[in-house]
Amino acid sequence: MSRALARAEEHGARSLQVFTKNARGWKAPPLTEEECHAFREEVRRTGLPVVAHGSYLVNLGTEEPAQREKSLDCVVEELTRCERLGIPFLILHPGGHPDERRGLALISRALDEVHARTPRFQSRICLEVTAGQGNCLGWRFEHLAEVLSQTKDAGRLGICLDTCHLFAAGYDLSTETGYHEVMEECDRVVGLERVHCVHLNDSKKPLGCRVDRHEEVGKGAIGLTPFRCLMKDARFVNTIGILETPYPERYAEAIKRLESLARRK
Ligand SMILES: [Zn+2]
Repeated sequence: MSRALARAEEHGARSLQVFTKNARGWKAPPLTEEECHAFREEVRRTGLPVVAHGSYLVNLGTEEPAQREKSLDCVVEELTRCERLGIPFLILHPGGHPDERRGLALISRALDEVHARTPRFQSRICLEVTAGQGNCLGWRFEHLAEVLSQTKDAGRLGICLDTCHLFAAGYDLSTETGYHEVMEECDRVVGLERVHCVHLNDSKKPLGCRVDRHEEVGKGAIGLTPFRCLMKDARFVNTIGILETPYPERYAEAIKRLESLARRK
């Protein structure tokens, strides 16, 4: 884990996202005290803000008892790892269920249980807006607002935006006007003060397709406009920005591109 910081530095990154365990498996070897210490030391040395992304197997909206149990244990384990590593945010996709209302209620109950099992933790869960693939919930700001309103200790929850997911979910932020309308809507429904992280991905797929396929910033269906708006938006000056494209060899270039957008008039 501790090697992630130096690797991010090599790309010229100013923040990073990690997995605290294999994102496509339930089980994970225990995290040693040495590894936690080394990680915290690296965070101190580099000064880079870090967020963690949760396992892709987790579904807090499931009705199926065994699946639900495994999901809850997994989130508790990941949040515990974040706490030990000093990572302030664990980003989670809210979950899926064929019935929207029922699913959102189940997600809130699951979050209540996670919170009850992790009292006084500093590390917090950020619910990520999704592309709305299949029966995934969280692709409308209203879904996130509903989960926030039904979760007892909602003050422990934050939000993570993802430009690709928003666009795929039907939020057209590809123009300057569109960008501002989407952010105003987000502010009105969930509150921008809850947004601690933004995933900076373009989309391979068109507006409203509800298919989640990330593309490099400015090279997909969204284009550069919202990234320029975001990089210059004073409301996000302290928000962590993360690239989630499958091209690590081009991260350095993408980071430079984003930084030049921030400087452009
Ligand atoms: Zn994302």
